[in-house]
Amino acid sequence: MENVIILGTGCAGLTAAIYTARANLNPLVIEGSQPGGQLTTTSEVENFPGFPEGVDGFSLMDNLRKQAARFGTRFTNDLIESADLSGPVKQLVGSSGNTYEAQSVIIATGARPRLLGIPGEKEMFGGKGVTTCATCDGAFYRDMPVVVIGGGDSAAEEALFLTRFTSKVTLVHRRDELRASKIMADRVFENEKIEMAWNSVPEAVLADESGLARALQVKNVKSGDVSEIEAKGVFVAIGHVPNTSFLEGALPTDENGYLVPADNSQVITEIPGVYVAGDVSDHKFRQAITAAGMGCQAAIEVERWLAEQPQPVEVG
Ligand code: NAP
Repeated sequence: MENVIILGTGCAGLTAAIYTARANLNPLVIEGSQPGGQLTTTSEVENFPGFPEGVDGFSLMDNLRKQAARFGTRFTNDLIESADLSGPVKQLVGSSGNTYEAQSVIIATGARPRLLGIPGEKEMFGGKGVTTCATCDGAFYRDMPVVVIGGGDSAAEEALFLTRFTSKVTLVHRRDELRASKIMADRVFENEKIEMAWNSVPEAVLADESGLARALQVKNVKSGDVSEIEAKGVFVAIGHVPNTSFLEGALPTDENGYLVPADNSQVITEIPGVYVAGDVSDHKFRQAITAAGMGCQAAIEVERWLAEQPQPVEVG
């Protein structure tokens, strides 16, 4: 049986791994379907402390992983599909068929991009024009018009990134003001390649005769007008959905599916030995640095909790 299993290899999971490994807890980290988490698809991270010139997301995560491995963290790749966390031995079952047992678990499974659910989105997702990752797919749309949907920092960041390749970016937002931070919004407004489509709700992704995206159909919520915006690429950036389905309701969630920690705690849950960290439970800040901070908190809580158990492991 493991002392601690950490689910997820984003900033939260890897920081928890660094701390628990340095505390000689010999953590096992289970990487899911997106090793490194959301930052691996982010171009430039400008606000992670310690990088005055910024750092690309992939390098940051690669460094965190190396740092965790340096202190003895073990990694395995599996997608946890179900969990029994109720007893003193926590059991996790992966898609590989393997069952993992641990005294304590840190859930840092993050969140995945939210989709619109409009006609054409699923049909053209991945390779046919609809995507959630400008860093991954932006270069495929060189000199072509694209749309980005959303009004938050993600949408602003994607739109700005896409101006490097594309002929024109239309930022489609359902309201008449951006949710994005002022610095990002100002950059969007100052960029001549970005045009705003305000008050516009996406209705459908329209295909050409080859089944590739050609336009986004939108409805103006003020006038009721329906129009088409030419787009070979449709970048959906409307927020995220926390990855909690494997828990099957074992822990309480809020109305958007984020795990809710126990009272007065950020990382302790109502189940002894089970902790949460990062975007899977943080709907408020959702930053790399806050996820890392929660990973650190969860690791220290695990260390203390294990030391109090009837047969404490050696911690030092
Ligand atoms: P977000 O802040 O929740 O914004 C989601 C956007 O999508 C909102 O503008 C929302 O519209 C829109 N939206 C949601 N559902 C929609 C739907 N069904 N149809 C059309 N539009 C829809 O999400 P985010 O942009 O991914 O940012 C998440 C967090 O990460 C934030 O805390 C953000 O600051 C942070 N972040 C920071 C950076 C950075 O600092 N460089 C970069 C990326 C993300 P409404 O505004 O009308 O609700």
